[in-house]
Amino acid sequence: MSDKHRYLKELPAIDRLLTQPELDQVSAPHCLMVEAAQESVAAARQRILEAQGTPANVDLAAIIADTRKRLSNKLRPSLREVINATGTLLHTNLGRAPLSEAALQAIDATARSYSNLELDLESGKRGHRYSHIDQLLCRLTGAEAAAVVNNNAGAVLLALTALAKGREAIVSRGELVEIGGAFRVPDVMAAGGVLLREIGTTNKTHLRDYSEAITDETGLLLKVHTSNYRIVGFTESVSAATLVELGQQHRIPVMEDLGSGMLFDLSPFGLPREPTVREGVEAGIDVLTFSGDKLLGGPQAGLIVGKKWAIDKIRHHPLARALRIDKLTLAALETTLSHYLDQQQAIDTVPVLRMLNMSAEEVKQRTARLADQLASQLQQHATVIRIEEAACVGGGALPLTTLPGQAIAIEPHQLSVDNLSYLLRTGDPALVLRIQDNRLILNLRTVFPSQEQPLIEALRTAFSTTP
Ligand SMILES: *Cc1c(COP(=O)(O)O)cnc(C)c1O
Repeated sequence: MSDKHRYLKELPAIDRLLTQPELDQVSAPHCLMVEAAQESVAAARQRILEAQGTPANVDLAAIIADTRKRLSNKLRPSLREVINATGTLLHTNLGRAPLSEAALQAIDATARSYSNLELDLESGKRGHRYSHIDQLLCRLTGAEAAAVVNNNAGAVLLALTALAKGREAIVSRGELVEIGGAFRVPDVMAAGGVLLREIGTTNKTHLRDYSEAITDETGLLLKVHTSNYRIVGFTESVSAATLVELGQQHRIPVMEDLGSGMLFDLSPFGLPREPTVREGVEAGIDVLTFSGDKLLGGPQAGLIVGKKWAIDKIRHHPLARALRIDKLTLAALETTLSHYLDQQQAIDTVPVLRMLNMSAEEVKQRTARLADQLASQLQQHATVIRIEEAACVGGGALPLTTLPGQAIAIEPHQLSVDNLSYLLRTGDPALVLRIQDNRLILNLRTVFPSQEQPLIEALRTAFSTTP
């Protein structure tokens, strides 16, 4: 009998494997145990068949250890915490905005028990889920009325359909935005049954372009914030106030998709001046939509504010039910919005605003401290230095803004950066970072102080894994 044959014959049967004490005592769903054991034995068989000499890790102890490892991977939740060391504050792939402590508590309390989601506790009669945030949103923006749905893409779709289905919406060619994940303004309009009437050119659209396009078919004048790109140089666009004037002359409503949207001016923090939601309301725009989880720093949601007649139409449209916000999101959103009643509180409490407002000096100090620790802990494995690096906002907001500071650059002596990055990504907790010039780059602006020790541990573990 050949050696290969002998090794294959010695592979354990699944039943026998699962009754080994090291596996028998593990508490896990039987179907996952069987799957892990089957995968493990199949992998061992593959190693035997492919081995040139003596195959490695094919004895019972190795197979048991491998089964346990596979099982623990299967038992981990698929959606889990990630340490974001990319320096991108609103990373759509990493879940955009982390929530404030108070917002988390609101979710917890609402999830644990029953709530007055749609019950008016004063009258004992049926209430509405919008009632928990509409006054707050009106106070923060000066609007007459407000509604909220699942996300801003939903808000745009719903508002377009409710206000202009079967009619034309006039949009500047400079504002036909595509944001990630297949949200393109022309496609959303088509999905909402609204006919796109493009006007102007990419870089310049004048008031006369709008007025000349107005016909009996016009149902809406639409403005879209160019969230993730900028047209610079020889440019012109029409202000919200001017568009509102034109709309009023022709009795046509005006809508603006603000994208990220912002409740107060961030320019005192050294960020570019962006129109605030309140300014849009004051300009007289009928409906404004913006995201809950971009610069607002709350949960995924689509916020809609504007004139009462328009919001009523939106609230009562059948699609509103299909796009409705759930109670946990609503709980987090109400709390996040309440932070904004006091600007200073918002900046101190909402994580995204704290990260935005973190000084370059603070980032440098944290980077210096952690780089020292890593340099001594990883000295056998890598060279650790500090580099000048800016963080960015991301999530399709403030595309040209950079937040200066420093980052840690780790150059491994032996392991490849791709292999390390894989080990870190799949580790526990998962650590996501950037690779540049064959180095791992860690930007601490997006790492919470409480994650610094787990981050060091994650790196130690990855570097101590044999290549
Ligand atoms: C981000 C964005 C959206 C979509 O918002 P979500 O909350 O991600 O659904 C729509 N329009 C603009 C201009 C945006 O920037």
